[in-house]
Amino acid sequence: MQHPSQSDTTRLVRRPFVGGNWKMNTDCARAAELADDVANGGSRHAPTVDVAIFPPFPYLHATVHAVGHRAILVGGQDLSAHAQGAYTGQTSGAMLVDLGCRTVLIGHSERRHGLGELDGLLNAKLTRAIENGLIPVLCVGESRAQRREGRACEVLREQVQGCLSGISAEQARALVVAYEPVWAIGTGDAATVQDVIQAHRSIREVLADLYSAPFAQSIRVIYGGSVNANNAAELFACEEVDGGLIGGASLKSDDFLAIVNALCS
Ligand code: PEP
Repeated sequence: MQHPSQSDTTRLVRRPFVGGNWKMNTDCARAAELADDVANGGSRHAPTVDVAIFPPFPYLHATVHAVGHRAILVGGQDLSAHAQGAYTGQTSGAMLVDLGCRTVLIGHSERRHGLGELDGLLNAKLTRAIENGLIPVLCVGESRAQRREGRACEVLREQVQGCLSGISAEQARALVVAYEPVWAIGTGDAATVQDVIQAHRSIREVLADLYSAPFAQSIRVIYGGSVNANNAAELFACEEVDGGLIGGASLKSDDFLAIVNALCS
């Protein structure tokens, strides 16, 4: 009988995670249909993989309903940094849970850059997600200019440290970190496997410095940025890559399920 190597053992204890970020796409009927298709094809992987979908807020209810009892996680694309109160237009962690969400995206680059969300605010959002028992998917990533300047690892360190400030290892145990280089999102220009490995290692180094090496090894670090059915298998074959956050390719169930299958094979 073959025994798993040390690296296989490490990978085995981190349950893979693959999420589809639908952004501001679909309509209510299409969201329900897409959720049903993903649940049909994806829930058979539930014993070994977390498969998640992140629809627009107005379609969360329809999506949760379409998934029904099948083991697909539904999540919000954001949550408020506040628990409740006079915050017009915001959605709290408790509201997400009430709707049936199990996970939430925090700090997507389209919010960091488009809406000016900084690490301090994201730290508060992360705290609210944890308080509500949601699996937080914290997005981090450098811009093209920062990479050109050789500052990618430094930027990742700043973002991870800033977002996790004051959060204990116990609180952060369900955390998923999504490495999403800004220049790779929606561009068709995925990072190379070598870049991804280097970035994921540096994220784990920061987690080890903040908490401990075993903690860092237990946290899922996934990659996002122009993942598609053709490049997924190569990216997911890396020991450092525990799954993916998928944008454009998650809007077609066949493409998304091919990516899920690549993670499971
Ligand atoms: C994303 O929005 O998180 C993302 C990774 O998008 P895409 O797959 O389209 O690059």
